Amino acid sequence: METTDAFAGLECVDCGAVVDAFEESHRCPDCGGSLESTYEYDAIDIDREALADRPFDSQWRYAELLPFSRESAVSTSEGATPLVECPQLADELGVGRVLLKDEGRNSTGTSKDRGASVAVTAAARSGATDVALPSTGNGGQAVAAYAGRAGLDAHVYLPSRSGFTNKAMVNVHGGDMNVVGGRFDAAVGAFEEGLAEHDDWYSLRASETPYRHEGAKTVFYEIVEQLEWAVPDVIVSPTGAGTGIVGLAKGATEFRELGLIDDLPALYVAQASGCAPIVTAFDDDRDDHDPVEHPDTICGELEIPDPGASSRVLEAIRRTDGGAVATDDPDVLEAAVRVAQATGLEMIPSAAAAASGAWELAERGAFAGDETVVIVNTGAGNKEADVLRSHLMGQGV
Ligand SMILES: *Cc1c(COP(=O)(O)O)cnc(C)c1O
Ligand SMILES: [Zn+2]
Repeated sequence: METTDAFAGLECVDCGAVVDAFEESHRCPDCGGSLESTYEYDAIDIDREALADRPFDSQWRYAELLPFSRESAVSTSEGATPLVECPQLADELGVGRVLLKDEGRNSTGTSKDRGASVAVTAAARSGATDVALPSTGNGGQAVAAYAGRAGLDAHVYLPSRSGFTNKAMVNVHGGDMNVVGGRFDAAVGAFEEGLAEHDDWYSLRASETPYRHEGAKTVFYEIVEQLEWAVPDVIVSPTGAGTGIVGLAKGATEFRELGLIDDLPALYVAQASGCAPIVTAFDDDRDDHDPVEHPDTICGELEIPDPGASSRVLEAIRRTDGGAVATDDPDVLEAAVRVAQATGLEMIPSAAAAASGAWELAERGAFAGDETVVIVNTGAGNKEADVLRSHLMGQGV
């Protein structure tokens, strides 16, 4: 496995044990805790000028801060997505600037491509022939795409509720698609059975591989470079499993550690009221969530009732003085339509929860008026254009 110079292996987030990335890639052998990529930050020689000299072409321009070299990466040039100024939204929210980080421009149309690239690279370099994961949809599509590119078989478990585009494209990428009746927990159950029956499957489940949020952290690197090294006051990210927000927090902490920035942005989690375990835990001042018994939201990517990373998410939003906000499905759909009409940008409903959450924060008086607010558009609107269209048809449009 071709690792980068400063990559120092995987560390257990619970007991601190450091394990060799060649030997373990999922759980701590001592305590079963999650593993995290660690680096010798002193050995990383990177500054603003060096980055400015590199083309803004993919997340692998930050390879020193990733476990694997650019040459060894399974990549479709994911990342390097635009950060689009939205003055209309700034006016409506009553803040200085609003920018949309448009992750819909990735090859499979979502931010999932970043983590899929790093995690499939890890699987391929460790000699795996098969990867497997349960997914609400977009993660499965992304992994199927990158696994296909690397010549690996992808076993994808999707709930029947996942979107048509996801199911179609898992097939198109040659993945082994398992559509499981019921909701996400049923897909997880079927995935766990599959994994138990196949010793040689390499799990790419979000809470198990350390490599998906490792890719997700590059979203933060790009945002500050695109803002010419100004740290945004607020970043609002739609949150299901928590991979995206854990990545943003890690990216911000690393850039500060490296002396590239001084401050951290306030990180805000946005969820849908029909499945908001992290928002509830935040509001109740708890360090962990209670699983949602009957999750139900049109935001399929946010319908994760039992997010394994919740304690890390809660720690990140508290440490950065951020917060958590949930809005109702009709408001989320309305926000997607409003953003499309005001800015020309298309948000998948699950991502529009972040726009809707930003409006809710504004209404609650969370903003002083001069902030720079970044909303992460985790996915392209055309992946679920049918959902947005039916919302309008419900209003007689
Ligand atoms: C996966 C996904 C999310 C949720 O992100 P997490 O990293 O699981 O918290 C939000 N929006 C879209 C479009 C997604 O695909
Ligand atoms: Zn451990």
